[in-house]
Amino acid sequence: MDLKSFVTIVPDYPKEGISFKDITTIMDNGQAYKYATDKIVEFAKEVGTDIIVGPEARGFIIGCPVAYALEVGFAPVRKPGKLPRETIAVEYDLEYGKDKLTIHSDAIKPGQRVLIVDDLLATGGTVGATVELVEKLGGVVAGCAFLIELSYLNGREKLKGYEVSALMSY
Ligand code: 5GP
Repeated sequence: MDLKSFVTIVPDYPKEGISFKDITTIMDNGQAYKYATDKIVEFAKEVGTDIIVGPEARGFIIGCPVAYALEVGFAPVRKPGKLPRETIAVEYDLEYGKDKLTIHSDAIKPGQRVLIVDDLLATGGTVGATVELVEKLGGVVAGCAFLIELSYLNGREKLKGYEVSALMSY
């Protein structure tokens, strides 16, 4: 299947000069959504996966069906103040300023093999922070899977030494 034909490029969103890759037009097509999910499931099996971790919000959309198919759990990574119990946090750099991501302290058991899933790899800031959260809890990052990689932003460099899969590259 030509998955790229289901991605909608939105010029100048969220601001001028950015060419946003809209994946909702993958999700709203049952066959494309299933195809993308199945591809990530294959990768998850190759690397060995005990649990999926995905950052809000599009990491949930891609990660949860993968977890369901594998019959493994899913642990959400969220912005501060969104998770109800004890969390740990990691700060990361944005284009302007900093942001934080959190995960429940008991979401991952030490030694569990974790597949991190998100829709898109850009600079790698989000996934880098997610890797840190997983490793702080003693998880082993089995791999990182994305629908899309923006290769010109070199996000993969932040993931040296980790297994990385992207179904599409721009
Ligand atoms: P990074 O932290 O790698 O710079 O940016 C990746 C994060 O930003 C992902 O969580 C992703 O959802 C979001 N993101 C950045 N650019 C795009 C885009 O063009 N399309 C989509 N769907 N998400 C994007």
